[in-house]
Amino acid sequence: MTQTSSPDTSVTATTAASTPALSSYVGRFAPSPSGPLHMGSLVAALGSFLDARANKGKWLVRIEDIDPPREQAGASDSILRSLESLGLEWDGEVLFQSTRHDAYRAALQGLFEKDALYYCTCSRQQLKEYGSVYPGFCRGRTTELPNSSIRCQVEQLNINFKDIYQDNYRHPHNNKGDFIVLRKDGLFAYQLAVTVDDYFQNITHVIRGIDLLDSTPRQCHLQSLLNYPRPIYGHLPVLVDQKGKKLSKQ
Ligand code: GLU
Ligand code: ZN
Repeated sequence: MTQTSSPDTSVTATTAASTPALSSYVGRFAPSPSGPLHMGSLVAALGSFLDARANKGKWLVRIEDIDPPREQAGASDSILRSLESLGLEWDGEVLFQSTRHDAYRAALQGLFEKDALYYCTCSRQQLKEYGSVYPGFCRGRTTELPNSSIRCQVEQLNINFKDIYQDNYRHPHNNKGDFIVLRKDGLFAYQLAVTVDDYFQNITHVIRGIDLLDSTPRQCHLQSLLNYPRPIYGHLPVLVDQKGKKLSKQ
């Protein structure tokens, strides 16, 4: 049963009908240039490519270079060259998130106008004992504070979305609580950038690894706040090693 305290934050499959209709198929592969293309991300690349081509759709590549400290020099080039050499040819120009800061800033502005954001000064140390759900200490701090991150407030995040592969995924609860959209170090968070750019590129189908499944409700939450249509999701199994650990090396 849903226990929604505010209709604004409740997003269910039934509200999907009121979002703008999706145009013809546009898929994407969105690697972070933290290293060369590895077997794990290749599954996402191949899955999204094949689904796009099978649906006579477009397939776009977006380099998610929003986190310079975690970037590896030359990784973007190396990933693109690997895709080319595997015959995974993308449509149009590659979009680099490092060129999209104005758009992310504008989205933050829009979210502030919806009273969805606040400044958070909590340190990692302070939050240590609260596990993975942010306890909401800084809620209501809407005047800019130095040395702070910006969080998006989440009430009850009851998000059902259709997943092509994960049969009617239903997120059990509030997920990770109020989540960060701008980091303390001034970098835009993945959840924000990916949501803004999936919309900007008119992505209709997001095919990616199941390791991102629990990010999807947060992205859907941002979509409803920003009045973006919701793409169709498909989360593919990820490759694991013999111990069940996600493969992340080449
Ligand atoms: N850039 C993210 C990653 O490489 C994936 C983004 C996405 O597919 O939504 O893990
Ligand atoms: Zn805080």
